[in-house]
Amino acid sequence: MSFASHPSFSLDSRRVVPLRQGSPRPQGRYVLYFCQVQKRAEWNPALDYAVEWANHLGLPVVVYEGLRPDYPHASWRHHRFILDGVNELATRLAARGIAHWFFLPKLGDRFPMVAQLAQSAALVVTDDYPTFIVPRHNAKLAQVLDCPLYAVDGCDVVPLRVFERAFPSAAVLRPHLHKLLPDLLRRSDPSPIPLRDSLSLPLPQLAGLRRGIELPTDSSELDRLVAETGVDRSVVPAIGVRGGRSAGLGRLTKFLRDGLPRYGDGRNLADVDVTSGLSPYLHYGMLSADEIARAAIAAHPAGLADPSVAAFIEELLVRRHLAHNFCLFTKEHQTVRALPAWTQASMREHEPDKRATIYDLQQLLWGRTSDPLWNAIQTELRELGEPHGYMRMLWGKRVIEWSPSYEEALQRLIYLNDHYAYDGRDPNGYTNMLWCFGLHDRPFARRPVFGLMRPMSSDGAGKRAQGPLYIDRVRRTLLGQSARGRSEQLTLGGR
Ligand SMILES: Cc1cc2nc3c(=O)[nH]c(=O)nc-3n(C[C@H](O)[C@H](O)[C@H](O)COP(=O)(O)OP(=O)(O)OC[C@H]3O[C@@H](n4cnc5c(N)ncnc54)[C@H](O)[C@@H]3O)c2cc1C
Repeated sequence: MSFASHPSFSLDSRRVVPLRQGSPRPQGRYVLYFCQVQKRAEWNPALDYAVEWANHLGLPVVVYEGLRPDYPHASWRHHRFILDGVNELATRLAARGIAHWFFLPKLGDRFPMVAQLAQSAALVVTDDYPTFIVPRHNAKLAQVLDCPLYAVDGCDVVPLRVFERAFPSAAVLRPHLHKLLPDLLRRSDPSPIPLRDSLSLPLPQLAGLRRGIELPTDSSELDRLVAETGVDRSVVPAIGVRGGRSAGLGRLTKFLRDGLPRYGDGRNLADVDVTSGLSPYLHYGMLSADEIARAAIAAHPAGLADPSVAAFIEELLVRRHLAHNFCLFTKEHQTVRALPAWTQASMREHEPDKRATIYDLQQLLWGRTSDPLWNAIQTELRELGEPHGYMRMLWGKRVIEWSPSYEEALQRLIYLNDHYAYDGRDPNGYTNMLWCFGLHDRPFARRPVFGLMRPMSSDGAGKRAQGPLYIDRVRRTLLGQSARGRSEQLTLGGR
């Protein structure tokens, strides 16, 4: 694996992937950071890398952020969450002397913005990310740009490309990560790399650059803008959920105070609010895994020796890295063909098994099955966009039983998850949906339909995770939302 960084740069070079090498364009007027994933001005290795180049070349930094209307599963919910964070990102960048250029195209618009902005750039930095539309974007950019292009990984605590292979399980990966962790926590400087004062230029002074769109702060105005883009408006934002870094930091503070002390014992209890709720902010890069890990370790005097901190770091460090590692090294991570040989063999044997009940996608979408616990999870996903972590496992497993084939089951899960979950379209999602089919797991005793996959039933999961109380909790949350003015009729089991 080849890493590239300038010898005088302080950023961990293992995070930098050169996609197009060469000398910076001599007449370049700025360093361009094309911000696709890590939408934050702090704790952002890609931005810091752009700043290091800018300081080195004596140029300003321009951050370009565009929100296309045509990405898979684009909706009012996803668009609004991202738009919530745009003004704040611009303000935080401005505090670092960095210009922000935002663009919000409508369906049918052409938007070759990166290529246009890159024409005046000395070089381009962007995010390295193992899934969704980013790898395709980056490969295309490497072909069309005529200046250097670097992708920088800001996904995880441990740089993703430190390892050159896919790991078969958390058990195999865990010791490698824990070996690297102390040095990484000690080494990396959490304060952002400062841009030299003389290089801070407001956008209008960067000759030839028109201002990008300025967003209103009023929430109904933001919704009007979303409507004008033409994205799917049937997936509405959940009441009370707000995107943006401040909202994410608010959740982090609350979690460190109320959730983390109980995380060890309580994370699998679905009727209580113990888990962090940080995955949407991690997914949209509004918070970094690194900063959350440090905050959690610092929150307890015993640090990692505290069982709750250790349980949380297991998810944030190990499970998260395993998911990113899997997607990085497995091109077809959205199909059952990506599964290990033992589960593929089991699927071949059990594909013909008779399914007791088959539901169609609409029945699943509206939570119209005979299983009230599953309906509650699906309702939480559809209406609130943040299903409980433990319940998500049962949610995935049951769809296997109710679908005509394994591949169809996976595609239904991907559709529902990516359409409705705030944290959807994420390496964690694809990996965990495949976990339901045996990925990163071991064979269990053979059963009809499940074959050798780990089985899970609503009775068992319901007992473990306080299923009846969870159903009640989802119902009460929805009633609370409709009392707060939501116009749709929100009932468990559909409309
Ligand atoms: C079928 C299924 C689908 C899933 N889809 C997604 C998805 O689309 N996006 C997503 O981010 N997660 C997904 N997960 C993983 C997990 O359920 C969520 O990350 C977690 O519930 C998010 O809630 P939280 O932030 O409160 O988690 P916490 O329990 O507070 O954990 C903190 C962070 O650790 C990471 N994490 C936790 N559990 C896992 C895990 N099992 N694998 C990888 N990382 C983990 C996440 O980044 C999470 O935000 C899915 C799990 C299943 C079983």
